[in-house]
This record gives sequence, C-alpha cells and structure tokens, in this order.
Amino acid sequence: MSKVATLDVETLRREFPILHQEIRGKPLVYLDNAATTQKPRAVLDALRGYYERDNANIHRGVHALSERATAAYEAAREKARAFLGARDVREIVFVRGTTEAVNLVAQTFGRSRVGPGDEIVITHMEHHSNIVPWQLLCGQIGAVLKVAPITDEGELDLDALAGLLGPRTKLLAVVHVSNALGTVNPVKRIVELAHAHGVPVLLDGAQAAARLPVDVADLGCDFYTVSGHKLYGPTGVGALYAKLDHLEAMPPYQGGGEMIRSVTFEGTEYNEVPWKFEAGTPNIAGVIGFGAALDFVSDIGLDAVAAHEDELLRTGTEVLESIPGVTIVGRARHKAGVLSFLLDGAHPHDIGTILDREGIAIRAGHHCAQPVMARFGVAATARASFGVYNTLDEIDALARGLAKVREIFG
Ligand code: PMP
Repeated sequence: MSKVATLDVETLRREFPILHQEIRGKPLVYLDNAATTQKPRAVLDALRGYYERDNANIHRGVHALSERATAAYEAAREKARAFLGARDVREIVFVRGTTEAVNLVAQTFGRSRVGPGDEIVITHMEHHSNIVPWQLLCGQIGAVLKVAPITDEGELDLDALAGLLGPRTKLLAVVHVSNALGTVNPVKRIVELAHAHGVPVLLDGAQAAARLPVDVADLGCDFYTVSGHKLYGPTGVGALYAKLDHLEAMPPYQGGGEMIRSVTFEGTEYNEVPWKFEAGTPNIAGVIGFGAALDFVSDIGLDAVAAHEDELLRTGTEVLESIPGVTIVGRARHKAGVLSFLLDGAHPHDIGTILDREGIAIRAGHHCAQPVMARFGVAATARASFGVYNTLDEIDALARGLAKVREIFG
C-alpha cells in the first residue's frame, strides 16, 4: 500500500467557492456528495478558460482555436486513461455519465452478444441506471435478467452470485460502491469469479472512482463507468472504459458526425475507436473540465481521499450509533463514505427538511435504488455522504441537527 498522506482540509476547502456561504443564517454543511460533488476553482477556471480562449469545434478545424480545443479534449482522454489505469487511451469513450455508459454497453455490446433466452446478471444493490438499461435490453431481445441477492448487512452474497453464472450468462453488471448502502464490493474477486465462467463484467464506478484508487487493468473488468460530476467535475460528462477488443467488435451506439470516416447513401464507414462511439459535437468544455477534476483528485491522491473518508465514516457511524432511535441501513464490513440511516418516528424527508434549516444538506429518498429500499423494507432513507472537503466539525453539526429532529418528533 502506498503512503497515505493526510488531507489539509482547510486549504482544500478554500478551493471550493460554493462552500463559503450561509444557508438560512447557518454555514453550509454539504453532506450530499453521493448525489453530486462541488467543483474546485481549477475546474471552474478550466471551463471558463476554454470558453474565453479556445472555444471551437474539435477534430475538424484547420484553424488555431480548433487545434487548441482538440488538443485539450484529447489531453483529457489521456488523463482519464491514467486515472483509471487503462493500458490504451483508445479504451476511453467520453459519455454523459454512468447512465449513458451503461446504456451504451447494453445497446451495443448487449445487442450484438445477447440472444433470446440468454441471461444478464445484476445484483440487488444496483442503482436504477444499472438495472433499467438491462431490462430494456432483455425486453428487446427476449433475454432474462437475474438478480444476485444481498445480505441483511448489505453485502453481496457471493456464493449465490456464483450460482447464477451459467452457460447462458452473457454479462455480469455490478456496482463497485453502492450509493444507497455505502458497500464496497470485492470487485476484483467478482471479476475473477465471472471470468472463470467466461462471463464479461461491467463495473458501475459512479461512486467508487471519487473515493478509492481504481485500476481497471488490475481489476481485469471488461467495462468501467465513471460520472464526472461525482468526481468534482462538471455535470453531463463521464467516461466509459472498455477493453479495446470489445470496442473494436461493438457496433456504433449513435450515428452522426464525428463517428464516421466516410458516408454515401449506399453505406457508411465508421471512424476508429473511440471516436466511433462519440457521435456529434461532444461536451467539449465538460470533457476539459473533467480532465481538470481528474488532475485535482490525482494531486490530492486517492489513498489520502480514501483515508480521509474512512475517518469521516468511522466518526459519522459512531455519532449516529450514539443517537437513540437511529438505525444505520448498510452495515457492510467494507464501506465507503456513504451513511444511510433511519430515525424512529421521523420520515427521511422531514429529517432532510429540518437539517436544511440548520444549513445541512443531506439526501432523503430512495436514492434511485428502489429495490435496495424494498430489500430493507423501507421506502426511503436519509443519507449523509462525504467528500474531500468535509470535516469532523461538520459531523458534529449533523449530530446537533439530528438532536433538533428528535426534539420535534420526540
Ligand atoms: N450508479 C451509481 C452507484 C450512482 O450513485 C449513480 C448516481 N447517483 C449512477 C449510477 C448514475 O450516475 P449518473 O446520474 O451520473 O449517470
């Protein structure tokens, strides 16, 4: 394990202009990082700088601005490659985020590899964006969706998962870090298990990539998905990592400009990978801002981020456990900085509203993971989720806020 540096949180916080404001007269305490993270100055400057200096369409310009925009866009691809540990820059496709990445894989890899009666395996702890695209595919093809169960602690039942992998399984799609439970799945073991059955694996890294070091080459996964906005980058941009062999074999996702080499009415020759999968003018500014976010996180170091979130998680868990009537949902042995909880007598939305009056932003709801809620017999939870800029003082503020909720709901 590489050296774990401690974060200088006070210095880091200065990089996030949005944090320095009051909400209803109280300092903002932002604990909704699993929904989206705030953006550091480096990202805001990259977006502004692009529009102020370099804005032009990419890949086709003969002029200076277009060359600069193209260079910055492609430099971000190299940053994403390095960040995820991919071997080849052609293995990175820019997309809108994890949702689009999963849909892309379902409609290209899935459409070309899955036949009637074949099976896709997912798990009971998936976000809707790693469920619905597979339901759509199964409906289109006549394939079958199988669901691996989870335990009462919120861990995957690996034996049951292994039992679902058979000759008809064409893909296993699993979340790396659950946004609803905080569970960190043993994805390397899962990939080994699936590959032993000849089953390719997609990992949903929407939550993981901002919290843990990720090395796709080491994991051996076939696909890995990332959302820029959960990684201190802009909304509307993310990356799909896919093994080169898969990308070469997959049909295009959308048709249009950029993804072609030549077009006649008789037929079209497609562009090379990865541009074959990037039809139309992409989110150029977003990709460049995403690159700046990856630099920002890499400069901090993911080992340090993980250690910091671990400390927040441990303290947050202790604090919640000390409050009468609180139940933590998701007690996996290995968790990331996501704390889902219930408070006797108070609906999660009421918890969220009362905390908001104290300047504290948390999430309340089903977290786009209704099957997880159903598994634990609830409609919703309250969720505090941490980021690099959160402090132990903010956990104290959360505890004081929850004391107010208890006063009101008795
Ligand atoms: N998977 C997980 C685990 C998530 O937390 C999210 C976002 N909440 C998604 C997928 C979807 O990501 P996006 O909305 O950025 O496409």
